[in-house]
Amino acid sequence: MASVIRSKLLIVEDDPGICAFLRATLTAEGYDVLFAANGQSALQIIASHCPDCILLDLGLPDMDGVEIIRSVRGWTPTPIIVISARSMEEDKAAALDLGADDYITKPFGAIELLARIRAALRHTRTSAESGEIALTGSYHVGGLEIDYKRHRVCLDGQDVHLTPNEFRIVSLLGLHPGRVMTYKSMLRALWGPSASMDNKILRVHMASIRRKIEPNPNEPRYIFTEVGVGYRIAENDDEKKEE
Ligand code: CA
Repeated sequence: MASVIRSKLLIVEDDPGICAFLRATLTAEGYDVLFAANGQSALQIIASHCPDCILLDLGLPDMDGVEIIRSVRGWTPTPIIVISARSMEEDKAAALDLGADDYITKPFGAIELLARIRAALRHTRTSAESGEIALTGSYHVGGLEIDYKRHRVCLDGQDVHLTPNEFRIVSLLGLHPGRVMTYKSMLRALWGPSASMDNKILRVHMASIRRKIEPNPNEPRYIFTEVGVGYRIAENDDEKKEE
């Protein structure tokens, strides 16, 4: 599908090497790319140029990138992908809980980066993340299907016998295909705002879910662990076809 409308990306990053890599990769892909090397100019550019997607480094010279998320989320749902250092898992989770859409860990390659950007832009286009699922009533990837209407999960056409909590976890992830959900956001969605913020309950359920749906629970192909952050379910087949 050829598109004449070029998406405008804002890169908020103070590392010149990463900026050069991003400029080369993203302009070659046909994106319009804007740059901000600090938080103040990022906020100005966001307000004046309304980018379609923001790639945000958390470690900026004048402010914490988290402050930008907080500020931007006060007035626009523009997707934000956090660029973060490998060692900062807690920061990643905090950024997602504040309203960032995704994150990518340094060092990253062009293929992974472009896939994340396409996913972020697509989620804005469909506006509701679960728009596709709301239409079809199901999520499916490979042999896994979540049938929301009939309240069941099938693997290769066979019913998977999940407990009610296991079903709730899988179906929650299925509403956000390809996107990471933090432990905190999952616990809140499943058990309410006053839920205990203990990830252990999720890990226990996930171990059991994986034994039921993953051909090899040690190398999951449907639900991935984002270490220290949360879980991500594979993108559904309909979404992958667009790419
Ligand atoms: Ca930095």
